[in-house]
Amino acid sequence: MEQVDTVIVGAGVVGLAIARELAPSRSVVLLEQERHFGEHLSSRNSEVIHAGLYYPPDSLKARLCLRGNALLYRYCQEQNIPYRQCGKLVVANEGQQDTLEQLHHNALNSGATGLHPCSQQWLGRQEPWLHASEALLSEHSGIVDSHALMQCLAAQAQAHHALLCYRHRVHRIDCHQAHFLLLVDSDEGPFELQCRHLINAAGLGAAPLLQHCHGFPADGIPEQRLARGNYFSLAGRSPTQRLVYPLPESDGLGIHLTVDLAGNARFGPDVEWIAQRDYQVNASRRPQFENAIRRYWPSLDPQRLSPAYAGIRPKLFVNGTPWRDFLIQDEKEHGIKGMINLLGIESPGLTAALAIAEDIASRG
Ligand SMILES: Cc1cc2nc3c(=O)[nH]c(=O)nc-3n(C[C@H](O)[C@H](O)[C@H](O)COP(=O)(O)OP(=O)(O)OC[C@H]3O[C@@H](n4cnc5c(N)ncnc54)[C@H](O)[C@@H]3O)c2cc1C
Repeated sequence: MEQVDTVIVGAGVVGLAIARELAPSRSVVLLEQERHFGEHLSSRNSEVIHAGLYYPPDSLKARLCLRGNALLYRYCQEQNIPYRQCGKLVVANEGQQDTLEQLHHNALNSGATGLHPCSQQWLGRQEPWLHASEALLSEHSGIVDSHALMQCLAAQAQAHHALLCYRHRVHRIDCHQAHFLLLVDSDEGPFELQCRHLINAAGLGAAPLLQHCHGFPADGIPEQRLARGNYFSLAGRSPTQRLVYPLPESDGLGIHLTVDLAGNARFGPDVEWIAQRDYQVNASRRPQFENAIRRYWPSLDPQRLSPAYAGIRPKLFVNGTPWRDFLIQDEKEHGIKGMINLLGIESPGLTAALAIAEDIASRG
């Protein structure tokens, strides 16, 4: 039977960032069920580098987003990964000014910087197409090429002898006193692998995998529900090269405009609760998209919108109550030495990936 020091389950941006962080000091094997890295959450998102505006101060999301933002810009510069610090406007309309002010306070209390309230006159000059009575400009928000980022993380992990194994699905874990026994399916058939440290970074598969983890306490497994985020793309020229967000809603950030590195605009993601994993865009949501976009872009030509792609958020519930933060469990939470679970790593997980990896390394 094969034995290694550390196994990471899942080659999304988080698993790859952890492999890169740990590989210089330990033997690392990364097991990924798909043929390539990043086929799920990490390639079905807005590629926005968030600046930590939305999350409660002292939450993991706030801390890891802010740290991750700084680490990610530096990493992109050092490694020549395409990115653009394009800035973002959070816009308020009549009757929403107080909510925008609360958001600004929350961001400052979390330690976010580079925030500037914008007047209607400034907006009229800078973004004449935009309907807003006020806005908050976040100059540390940006966009990144998530594929190039993952490619670079994978290459650096491999340069430090991390073994990246694609088409390897972990389907059972047995927790023993000082090691874990993994049952893995591969193209060559099933095999067993033993490790001392186990990091579960399986994205949408992370909480379900715990159901197949023998010795793991049942009350440590949160319920996971799925919230699809549909995107519509905009044909032709984007009205802006900034990111434009309405005020956030209870389960998402509101249907916003993001640009990609080629300068094209898309709208989304919305929030659609689904029972099964299904990446098909729900085209029947078009009217909701049109209405939401018209609130800040009244002259939108709806003919320019077309269904683009969808991603799925892993939403956690603990004792029936929504758990809105990342849930990083180590021995202190579940009592099992050597095991770390990364659960509910939805937005801003792409931004936070390098900081999550740093945090995992610091836990030993
Ligand atoms: C609609 C949407 C928009 C978003 N927008 C942004 C944004 O703009 N900015 C931002 O910072 N964040 C954003 N996010 C969040 C971000 O995409 C995620 O937090 C991040 O990609 C999570 O990465 P991950 O590695 O945890 O998950 P994943 O990328 O899903 O990786 C997990 C991997 O584990 C593998 N796996 C699962 N089970 C097993 C198993 N049993 N055995 C082996 N392998 C397994 C999967 O195949 C997968 O490759 C968004 C998310 C969504 C859904």
